[in-house]
Amino acid sequence: MNCEIIAVGSELLTPYRQDTNSLFLTDRLLQLGVNVTFKTIVGDRLANLANAIRIALGRTDIVITMGGLGPTEDDLTRQAVAEALGIRLRRNPDIVGALYARFAARRIQMTDNNARQADVLDGSVILENGRGTAPGQWLDTVYGEHRKLVILLPGPPTEVKAMFDEQCMDRLRAVVPKRTIAMRTLKAAMIGESQADARIAPIYTKYKDVDTTILAHTGDITLNLICSKGDQETAQARVDELAGKIEEELEEFIYSAQAESLEQIVLYYLGMHASTLAVAESCTGGLVSQRLTSISGSSRSFVGGAVVYSDELKTLFAGVPPSVIEANGAVSKEVAGALAEGIRRKTSATFGLGVTGIAGPGGGSEEKPVGLVYVAVSDGKQTDVVERRFGGDREHIRAWTSQLALDLVRRRLK
Ligand code: AMP
Ligand code: MG
Repeated sequence: MNCEIIAVGSELLTPYRQDTNSLFLTDRLLQLGVNVTFKTIVGDRLANLANAIRIALGRTDIVITMGGLGPTEDDLTRQAVAEALGIRLRRNPDIVGALYARFAARRIQMTDNNARQADVLDGSVILENGRGTAPGQWLDTVYGEHRKLVILLPGPPTEVKAMFDEQCMDRLRAVVPKRTIAMRTLKAAMIGESQADARIAPIYTKYKDVDTTILAHTGDITLNLICSKGDQETAQARVDELAGKIEEELEEFIYSAQAESLEQIVLYYLGMHASTLAVAESCTGGLVSQRLTSISGSSRSFVGGAVVYSDELKTLFAGVPPSVIEANGAVSKEVAGALAEGIRRKTSATFGLGVTGIAGPGGGSEEKPVGLVYVAVSDGKQTDVVERRFGGDREHIRAWTSQLALDLVRRRLK
């Protein structure tokens, strides 16, 4: 079965408010094996709202609205659904009574407009709202000869969550054909999105029953594999089989088959080898250290390091000989290597990581353009240095460089 979520509220069309409820709902619907095929955001205009609901009814089995159930003039969802379905609204005296009681308990005079929240679509089940005044509604109906479920939920996130978990999940489970979902998340580093896709598309397109999505973010690729089947074992087997083939194809680019981040994996490998790491960062200015220390327990393997922006500090904190800087320039494979070796020596870590580069926008030359970076890893005996040229703006270059640096350590330890 498929579903459309309609977020109602003019504020959701401004830069100041986001539709976050649908993120919660898509998580729950995914668990139930319901396919969310559309999300719509619509402002508080009756005609637009009714139109959006009609469109949703025409293309999905389940329509869920959120918002617009309050007492004010711009709360029009009930009316819009009634119009779209050609169903009447009736004021429910029990709800009116409960509203009066609620206000009375707080010693507040209830204004008349509150009673609109008691308007119920003919044939619908009322969903009680323990956290607010506006009840939701559950309507199992027919539209154009097809069975449709229309669920009206309030807007405030805490009310949506409680109402959906407590009153909709079981009801939906009873209606939706039993499906279970298997998921796998593979992560790859330092490969472009199009390059990765060109290699794996011939594989995953053969698995029509597995939904494969690729998300790319500065040298980090997330591959989500989702399969929905009648039983868990079959779904999991399909996803695992495809994951295995993708891993085979992307080989050493894949760093996790279980959704871990690159920094988690680096720390995991360091722990496995009973090794420690120290970092001397120039152009990333602490980004690598920041990423590593964002993981709890990182102190077991990450000893720390230095941000060595000036030439003087490269020498003072990371022991880079001034002659090496003078002969090769601060952005060079020699300095990257010396940073890695020096910080390792100074901290007695097992591995030293050195990072230097030109993040721009200024400071580039023909010989050494903006985006040129060197990262090095050393254990005191062997020093590996990698040169790369990244495009994009300063933040982009810095992010890619931190990824390159962490990936170099991972490859060294793997
Ligand atoms: P309403 O029921 O439309 O009056 O909405 C009540 C409150 O919930 C407002 O503060 C809205 O901004 C918020 N809200 C409504 N819809 C959403 C949504 N989809 N995601 C997050 N907040 C929402
Ligand atoms: Mg609203």
